[in-house]
Amino acid sequence: MSFTVAIIGRPNVGKSTLFNRLVGKRIAIVDDAPGVTRDRREGDGKIADMRFRVIDTAGLEDVKGNSLEARMRAQTEIALEDADVALMMFDARIGITPTDKHFSGLLRKSKTPVIVVANKCERGAGEAGRLEAYELGLGEPIAVSSEHGEGIGELYDALKPFAAEGKKNKSAYKASDHVDYDDDLIAGKPLQLAIIGRPNVGKSTLVNHLLGSERMLTGPEAGITRDSIAIEWEYKGRSINLIDTAGLRRKARVTDKVEYLSGADSRRAIDFSQVCVLMLDGEDMLEKQDLTIAGSVIDEGRALVIAVNKWDLIKDKKEAMQKLEDRLQTSLPQVRGVPIVTISAKNGKGMDKLLDAVFDVFEVWNRRIPT
Ligand code: GDP
Ligand code: GDP
Repeated sequence: MSFTVAIIGRPNVGKSTLFNRLVGKRIAIVDDAPGVTRDRREGDGKIADMRFRVIDTAGLEDVKGNSLEARMRAQTEIALEDADVALMMFDARIGITPTDKHFSGLLRKSKTPVIVVANKCERGAGEAGRLEAYELGLGEPIAVSSEHGEGIGELYDALKPFAAEGKKNKSAYKASDHVDYDDDLIAGKPLQLAIIGRPNVGKSTLVNHLLGSERMLTGPEAGITRDSIAIEWEYKGRSINLIDTAGLRRKARVTDKVEYLSGADSRRAIDFSQVCVLMLDGEDMLEKQDLTIAGSVIDEGRALVIAVNKWDLIKDKKEAMQKLEDRLQTSLPQVRGVPIVTISAKNGKGMDKLLDAVFDVFEVWNRRIPT
């Protein structure tokens, strides 16, 4: 179920850059109806599992023959006509200008909810400018960098309530996260998969093996945010969106593994996912942190698969498996029925078994969803 987001703001703040990032290759139509919509670009936007329609108003400023003020008003009116929510963007490096104030004045008068977006905040820049925007009286300004893909996770969080509410005037629509997933399934959309676990269990090794390259560490391609990366790939003709949290990229530069999987990272990965693979280290199974993560996957209603990695190092495999099952039974009875797959990410052993388990639990999980 979709909703519509309009990007509004004065020239050069980065509206088109954000539009391009949200829409990616999915630019559908430039509405060529005569007259008012001439300069409005629309596309199908996406952040992780969230889909929406995006309206970019950049270019409207260039329409000749009117006063700036009239043009701004026209831009805002056109964009708000169909929008469920407006992003009011400004350049945080410059701060709030009189023109920004003018836009926010128009937006305050409209019934459409507004999210203030402070752009050009990459690597912590523009914080002073962002804080200035509180004076607009439109709520907390979100720091993003359209160009570098930072803060998109925060934008996701801010948009989430509108995704749940659904499209304007569609009162029959019943809000539920799961409806989106169900639509996705019907449309053959990618399965959202997260691989989570403690540092050093072998997550990056697994991901690199699955993708058959080092691209995870060198730079994401699709759906990049500061907080998660979704990489689309295919397995046996079905597409999977592999969700990664900031850690995997950070790790390429930072060797401090303690920093790697913060609680927030794994929570966010769980949030974005439909299926979570919890990786354990075969030599060091089921620490308290493993149980905590498994518990939150289940509490969040995501499908869970447990992958026991480094199985190549285990001498007595039967005993190890027995121990794991016993421990799970006693410490986390909710995981009964969760598939446990032994793998060796380093040697690529067990990959098919793992992905088959992922699709199996996904199907079971989907059947539980009310339509
Ligand atoms: P629009 O007129 O609002 O659509 O703005 P554009 O998207 O055309 O961007 C205006 C200028 O700002 C371009 O030179 C962009 O490269 C630059 N820009 C956009 N986003 C960012 C950002 O996040 N950081 C920085 N430093 N520059 C940006
Ligand atoms: P991450 O922190 O969870 O991403 O873990 P890494 O992928 O960086 O792996 C941590 C260490 O475990 C590295 O030294 C890997 O080479 C090693 N490792 C990963 N998978 C396996 C495996 O299947 N068998 C063995 N023996 N070592 C592995």
